[in-house]
Amino acid sequence: ETITVQELANRMAARVPEVVKSLMKLGVMATATQTIDADTAELVVEEFGHRSKRVSESDVELGLEGQEDSETDLKVRPPVVTIMGHVDHGKTSLLDALRSTDVAAREAGGITQHIGAYQVTLESGAKMTFIDTPGHEAFTAMRARGASVTDIVILVVAADDGVMPQTVEAIRHAKAANVPIIVAINKIDRPDANPNRVRSELLQYDIAVEAMGGETQDVEVSALKRQGLDALQEAILLQAELLDLKANPNRSAEGAVIESSLDRGRGPVATVLVQKGTLRQGDIVVAGTEQGRVRAMLDDHGQPLKDAGPSTPVEILGLSGVPGAGEVFVVVENEGRAREIAEFRQRKLREHAAAAGAAARGTLDQMLARIQAGEQKEVALVIKADVQGSAEAIQATVQKLGNDEVRVRVLLAGVGQITESDVQLAKASDAIIVAFNVRANAQARTLASRDGVDIRYYSIIYQVSDDIETMVKGKLAPIE
Ligand code: GDP
Repeated sequence: ETITVQELANRMAARVPEVVKSLMKLGVMATATQTIDADTAELVVEEFGHRSKRVSESDVELGLEGQEDSETDLKVRPPVVTIMGHVDHGKTSLLDALRSTDVAAREAGGITQHIGAYQVTLESGAKMTFIDTPGHEAFTAMRARGASVTDIVILVVAADDGVMPQTVEAIRHAKAANVPIIVAINKIDRPDANPNRVRSELLQYDIAVEAMGGETQDVEVSALKRQGLDALQEAILLQAELLDLKANPNRSAEGAVIESSLDRGRGPVATVLVQKGTLRQGDIVVAGTEQGRVRAMLDDHGQPLKDAGPSTPVEILGLSGVPGAGEVFVVVENEGRAREIAEFRQRKLREHAAAAGAAARGTLDQMLARIQAGEQKEVALVIKADVQGSAEAIQATVQKLGNDEVRVRVLLAGVGQITESDVQLAKASDAIIVAFNVRANAQARTLASRDGVDIRYYSIIYQVSDDIETMVKGKLAPIE
């Protein structure tokens, strides 16, 4: 099985030179038209942070393998943006300010409906979509469910406060997901604003903005005074262009659930983001374990819509129940099929829940099995230690343990007890948590056992490296 470099780039919505660069890192020299083998392609895909779209067993059983789009069918689509940052740095204010720049709202009489995401149309006609739940929790929870909807993260940092703990968490979550960051230095209207301090503080977390010789875009804004919004939107469009975001609008729709609720009058209501294809009123959809015919669709101004193309958020009515945020939705050919799929998934879910008790200790075992089967090429770790020196020493040691086939990827090496945020991060990236002379707090323990995240406790560094070495070799020693 082979694929051309060009085709691979298209499938990842990446640019050819980036793919070539990534291949060079793997020691493979190839041009756009040359072919590479499936294993190499998979490594590149992982490098780009996509989980290579391996069709799941249940999807094969269901015949839901998904159709591939040919390059000529792909059209430019608007970027999907999530705003993250520390509490009180102005995420909500910025979302409101950006929303106010929407020219389409004027046509709709200025009505805005909070449906979990909104789209802004600029004077120029360019569009961009914002996820209306700021913060990394929703972002990570969605990733954990399998949906990756965000193309660009806006990291809001208040110019009078600088980089704070949740700023750092947001950076880690965005980096773990390989989503590019644009820094919005907010509150520049304040007399004590010090944007340069923000720029230099960010260096510590591997974010070098352009003024510091790096490539991350940064924009000074005031959400309150609505200053710098144009420049921020330009930065978003530039980043979107670099990402070369495309989708095929002329196919049946696929996407992700952004949020959902049960409305007294209207029944189950879900906001979905269309990622591929066009969703039409009357379509039959499956979202997680729920299904139904799209009875009505509304946009973020509460206006009825007949169809919605890629990157459009819409509220849909007509589902059998309330699907979870981050659940993937697809359009299927008829109602019988929709019910069949939904029931199949419900059954799987019950089986899974029954097996979960037995598998609680099993995340590591499962990972080793995947590595042995050659399905996993990476051991991802979240490292927490009692002191910075130990965290750094462990990181340096384990990173050397990777080899050509399985690499060790440290998502975070930090100090302090294990928190829910660490568990969420590990869950979203299939990582193991290494706890060195630290404990997990109660919420983190509960979450870890519920989600089957493996927390391993150590007090001697060489025991950490022994264990990680075994994991890496899981792949190398398939011979009994
Ligand atoms: P969030 O917690 O990150 O969503 O922050 P909010 O948007 O709720 O803003 C927190 C506080 O900062 C509020 O009192 C806002 O009015 C204020 N704020 C937000 N943006 C600005 C700004 O650009 N300038 C000033 N001076 N205050 C701002």
